[in-house]
Amino acid sequence: MDFSSKPVLIFWETTRACSLSCIHCRASAITDPLPGELTQREAMSMIDQVTLFGKPYPTMIFTGGDPLRRKDLFELMLHAAELGINFAVSPAVTELLTFETLAKFKRLGASSISVSLDGAYEDTHDAIRRRRGTYQKTLQAIRDAVNLGLNIQVNTAIMQENLGELPELFHLIRKLGVKTWELFFLIKVGRGSSVEDLEPRQCESVCNFLYDASSYGMVIRTVEAPFIRRVMKQRSDPEACWNDPDYHRLQSELVRLEGDPHTTSTLRPRGTLDGDGIVFVAHDGTIHPGGLLPIPLGNVKVDSLARTYREHELLMNIRQRKMSGGCGVCEFKEMCGGSRARAFSYNADPLSSDQACIHASLMYD
Ligand code: SF4
Repeated sequence: MDFSSKPVLIFWETTRACSLSCIHCRASAITDPLPGELTQREAMSMIDQVTLFGKPYPTMIFTGGDPLRRKDLFELMLHAAELGINFAVSPAVTELLTFETLAKFKRLGASSISVSLDGAYEDTHDAIRRRRGTYQKTLQAIRDAVNLGLNIQVNTAIMQENLGELPELFHLIRKLGVKTWELFFLIKVGRGSSVEDLEPRQCESVCNFLYDASSYGMVIRTVEAPFIRRVMKQRSDPEACWNDPDYHRLQSELVRLEGDPHTTSTLRPRGTLDGDGIVFVAHDGTIHPGGLLPIPLGNVKVDSLARTYREHELLMNIRQRKMSGGCGVCEFKEMCGGSRARAFSYNADPLSSDQACIHASLMYD
């Protein structure tokens, strides 16, 4: 798990155009493309740059906005496929995401498709996505993708609005045949700035719940909550128990719906962080450590993506865990490292402590 020479994932924000206007959208996506989007030639050249990391190439994630709003999306995917680059796509669920579109992703060789589902119930999801009917369309897209044999991942942004529905949501997507669930812990960027995020106590409860949920065979990953690895390590002690009413509610509902857990946890003890295994290219080519950490590091139009990833001082500091505050003195920092995006959004310092981690405050206050 040494990510110093190349990332495993390169996220490319193909466009900021999207016809949804979700309440937490990182990109503050708007109806029409912004000026300065990479042209097709610039995008092809950025895809060519991915090969300079050497084989095995990092996986490219075509994200947005809504990647389907880029008219040349399929040509760009074909270009990546012809170069032998593994790619995945994260489309918005709109009228553009048809059965035929999903079938085309499959023909082009997409390794995975991810769609967002933010509530177990129609009212919750459609209120967050701010478009009636999106919930039903999302369920249909998941069924279509499963029927096509696509590897489908569901993404969920956790916030106060949907916290209590997590067990029902897990139950729903398991019944639909989803194999991977990725949970985004809100960062206050873009439209997400005005959404109420979870308190550290609630984050701890959700991580403990996810640890339990990962013992039913589904692959579970978190985004901007690397402290789940600390929770995992702490839970390896059978005596360890997080004693909180929110957690007990989530856990008992999980067991009511799913029965007792039947596998070992699928959580991994080491993962990626922004700038450590991950890099992000914005719609205009600006390179950032991650999609939720809007610090410009260069631009693929003039800078080498590989050199920027390998040699930028901030990314080297993140990989070497040169953090301050609670994260700086934490015994779990190698496996965790804290969310650099949250540290930046709260403290304007990407190397400061992660405000959502209860361990950081317990240790340092
Ligand atoms: S204090 Fe920081 S490094 Fe330690 S577990 Fe919490 S977020 Fe991770």
